[in-house]
Parts: sequence; structure tokens; C-alpha cells
Amino acid sequence: MSWVTAIWSMIGAVCVTLAAMHLVVWFKCRSAWANLLFALAALASAGAAGCELWMMRATTTAEFGNALRWTHLPAWVIILALVGFTRLHLRAGRKWLAWTICGLRTLSLGLDFLFSPNLNFREITGLRAVPLLGETVTTAVGVPNPWMLVGQASLLLFVCFILDAAVTVWRRGDPLQKQLLVGAITFMGVAGTAQTVLAMWHIVQTPITASLLFTGIVVVMAVELSDGLIRAAKLADELRESEQRLSLAADATRLGLWVWNIGRDELWANAAGRELFGFTAAEPLDRDRFFEAVHPVDRDATRQALAKSLLEDEEYEREYRVILPGNHVRWIAVRGRVERDGMRAIRVRGVAMDLTARKEAERELAQQRTELAHLARVNTLGEMAGTIAHELNQPLAAMLSNAQVGRRSLHSRAPDLTEMAEIFDDIAADAKRAGGIIHGMRAMLKKDAPTEHQCFSLNDAVTQVLSLLHGEIVARQQEVKIQLGETLPPVRAERVEIHQVLINLVINGLDAMKEEPPRDAMKITTAWQDGTVTVSVHDSGPGLPPEIIPRLFDPFFSTKPGGLGLGLSISRSIAERFGGKLLAENHPAGGAVFHLILPAANA
Ligand code: ADP
Repeated sequence: MSWVTAIWSMIGAVCVTLAAMHLVVWFKCRSAWANLLFALAALASAGAAGCELWMMRATTTAEFGNALRWTHLPAWVIILALVGFTRLHLRAGRKWLAWTICGLRTLSLGLDFLFSPNLNFREITGLRAVPLLGETVTTAVGVPNPWMLVGQASLLLFVCFILDAAVTVWRRGDPLQKQLLVGAITFMGVAGTAQTVLAMWHIVQTPITASLLFTGIVVVMAVELSDGLIRAAKLADELRESEQRLSLAADATRLGLWVWNIGRDELWANAAGRELFGFTAAEPLDRDRFFEAVHPVDRDATRQALAKSLLEDEEYEREYRVILPGNHVRWIAVRGRVERDGMRAIRVRGVAMDLTARKEAERELAQQRTELAHLARVNTLGEMAGTIAHELNQPLAAMLSNAQVGRRSLHSRAPDLTEMAEIFDDIAADAKRAGGIIHGMRAMLKKDAPTEHQCFSLNDAVTQVLSLLHGEIVARQQEVKIQLGETLPPVRAERVEIHQVLINLVINGLDAMKEEPPRDAMKITTAWQDGTVTVSVHDSGPGLPPEIIPRLFDPFFSTKPGGLGLGLSISRSIAERFGGKLLAENHPAGGAVFHLILPAANA
């Protein structure tokens, strides 16, 4: 049996097998460029082995020349594939060198088919039998073609390129396997280049056996890539495991998982996700079907939010309602992340949760809060009932005495019409004042606060509240001074609730001032800056003891005998509901000061 034929045929078979395996990998995963380049290098090594065997078995100079010419084709593929592999897989080697090598190698391939018999010989003058592995094989003698320097220059540049890549890989501290790979390519590249150059210039008389070295490189590359394959298989196992864990957790919490493939407009959702949105188990899902399920009121906002996340690199987060079969409504919270290929959004992946129970609880809480606020208002009015009745008494008594004076005047011989008109004006003004007080009380007692917010001036709110509290202030023999800011912008809120906050603050201040003889009047000021309007209620009481400041706004915190301790906590939640704040501090000049800060309606 011929060892040469056996070895070169085996080289061919091994290379073709390895190439086939990695071609399949690339076919299944088109981004696996390293596998494609490897497959090309392996195929070309098999081709080179075939051409070499052809040369070694050539019987005529023409046949040898032809075989040598065709050897340049696999050599071209191998060099280009190795350069590409080094750049893509090892991320090393200089770009300009890579391009120069490819250019020179392609030029030499062109020249090879241009010259006769090939790039290496001007003329083949004879064949020579040389011994190899116990038999004789053919080499040629003739006139070397100086143009083969182009091809050999590309080989030398390749050696430089791969040496440079080896230094980069070593300096970067890449894993040992990568260092061995680049080392092996370097060694075999140097050896192959040396043998080809020496043999072609007839310095040594050996047949060309570059395919042996190419196969060495191919085997080392295969080991490196199969390590990747083993890692991929392990990862696939781990992925399956983690998918199972995730789906168990998702099922247990009824968490909907979904993925929207943007290019194909396909929506995938797990069983819990389909159930959440009211989709059947088998129906195909896409963007339109999804928006069909979203409540018409929330649809546009949801569309806009999705479009915004696709445009900007933002997480997609929303709460909206979906309509289920039978017109049931379910609240859903969705969170998603956009995946991109470069700048292009390709996929959105996310989770969905049923929020209905939480929304229901929030609604009940809001209702209870409103009821509590109403109760607190009724309670305050109850406490003020005496003074309000007294306050009403005044205009009523004035109206009565004015009416009596008017009646007497009518009985006089010549009634003074100017005086009569003044009397009627006074009666109307008193009726208006009484009506204002009653209107204020009715609003405070009304249970269902209107849901539409109104735009109004905090200056008006302060005057209206003070007219309601006038009797209380007089009864307590205290004084309130107001200093209203000019051109105050309006605020948007529930008027009655803001009145409630102001009443709480004024009554608390009056209570504090009751403790010791008042040093000074209470001051209420309004002001605005940076889009917010502030009402400050500054009393001249003893101020806030530092230990109670952190608990001031806690529900049911009170230092007053019989105090409910709800006023400040309700007032703060009202302020926050309208996007504002309620703050308390001690004034440097003494007394406590409370600031109600609300956003201006036009801000
Ligand atoms: P209540 O008036 O029923 O006690 P609030 O929530 O209105 O409930 O007030 C809670 C507590 O805050 C009061 O009991 C009092 O100790 C303190 N407080 C409120 N306003 C003032 C103030 N202007 N000066 C001093 N302490 C105050």
C-alpha cells in the first residue's frame, strides 16, 4: 500500500468531514461567521491535498504544471479564510495588513492563470523523482518565474500579520486555548511559507507538502471551535433549565410573558399571558390583535407609549385596561424591554400582570379617604356651629332692623326715596353675606365632592374661608391679618377640599394661640414663584415642639384633649392629590408656620 496516497487521502477526508460539520452549524446559525470561514479553510485544505497528490503522481511536465497551477486556488481560499478567522474570531491582526494580504493573494491567483504553465515556473524543463515515505514521488525542475514573488510576498505578510495577532492575543491575556491556537497558526504559517519558498527556488529538493501544515491548522481551529460547540450545548442545557424555572415561577404568580417580533409582526405569549388578555390558546397574535384587546380609552396612550419606547432607548412600562370576552374589564400592568440590532428595534420582550385587585383596593381606599375627609369637614363644622349661627345672626338681625326702618319710612307722609334705596341696598348686602356663609357651609357638608377640578385663585379661597371663620375668630378674641400676593396665577384643584385644608390650618393656629395670651395676630400670606402658589399660615402660638414634628402628619396624632388627629394628615393627602405639598416649620420670629404649596394651573 502507498503511504503517500493513504496519508493525503486521509487528510482530504478529515478536512471534508470537518468542513461539512461546520457548514451545517453556519447554515443553522447564519451569524456564526467563524464556522463558515473554518469550513472554507478545511475544504480548501482538502483541495490542496488533492492537488499535491496530483503533482506527486504527475507523469508529464504539462500535468505537473497544471496541478501546480490549480494548487493556487485552495491556497488563495485558505489564506483569505485564515485572515478573516483571525480578525473575526480572535479579534486581532491589523486591518490594513489583512487587506494587503488579500489583495496580493488575489493578484497572484490572477497571474497564476495568466502565465503558462503557472505562477511558479516560466518553463518546466523536466521531472525528477524524489523519495518520500519509502516510495518515489514527482517534483519538477525548470526556470522559476520571478512573478511568484507576488505570491510569496503575500505569504511573508501573512506571517507578519499572524505574528502581530499572536502578540495582541498574548498581551490581552486571552484564554490559553486562544493563545495556543494563534501560536499554532503562527508556527505552521512560518513553516509552510519557508518550505514553499525554498522548494520553489530549488534551494531544497522536496515535493510541496503544504497541505500537511494546513491540516494541522485546521485541526487546531476545529478544537477551538468545537470548544465553542460544547459550550453552546452546555448553555442550551442551562437555558432549558432556567426556562423551566422561569415558567414555573410565571405560572405560580400568573405572570404573563410575551415577545413581539417587530419585523414579522408576530406576538408570542405564554398560557398565562394569553389568559390575561383574553386570547384563546391557539389564535395567532399580532400587533393589531393586541390593540384590539386594549380598552378604547387607553388605546391611543398605549400606542404612543410603545412608539416612544421603540424610538428612544427606554423601557416600556404601562398600566391599562383590557376588554375580556363578555365585556369584563381587567387592569394590566406591563413592562417590556426593546431589543435592538444596532439602531434597529427588532424585538420587544416583557411581562404582564393582573392589576385588577390592586386597582379595586386603590379605588376603595380613595373612596374611604373621601368619606373620611367629608367626616372631618362635618366634624369641623359641628365644632363651629355655635359661632357660625352667631355669624348668621348678625346679617339677619341687620336685615330685620333695616326692614323695620323701611316699613316705618313708608308710613311717613313723604317717604325719602334715596333713604329707601340705601335701606334696600343694605338688606341686599346682608342677605348676600348670610347667603355666602350658608353656601360655604353647604359646600363643606356636601358628600360627593365634584370630580371635575376647578381653576380658582388661592386669594379668593383665603377670603372665603376667613368669612366663614369670622365668627370663630371674633369669638376667640383673636385677630388674623392677611397679605395677599398680587397677580397670583390660579390653581387647579377641588375648591371645597382646599377650603378644608385652609380651615384646618387656621383653626390649628387659633388653637395654638389660645394657650397663652396672643402676642401677635395670625398672618396669612399668599405668594407665587417658579410655577407654584403658596399660602402660608403663621400663628403666634408656642410653635411646634421638635419631638412632635416627625409625627405631625401621622393619622390620629393629636396633643389636644378630644382631638381627632386627622386634620393635618387629611390636609397633606389633599395637597398631594393635586400635585402639591403641605410643609410645617417653626418661624424664626416665633410661632409655627404651615405652607400649602400648589402648582399653578398654567405651569
Ligand atoms: P387635631 O387638631 O385634631 O389634633 P391635626 O392633625 O390638625 O389634629 O393636628 C395634629 C397635632 O399637630 C395637633 O394636635 C397639635 O399638637 C399639632 N399642631 C398642629 N398645628 C399646630 C400649630 N399651629 N401649632 C402647634 N402645634 C400644632
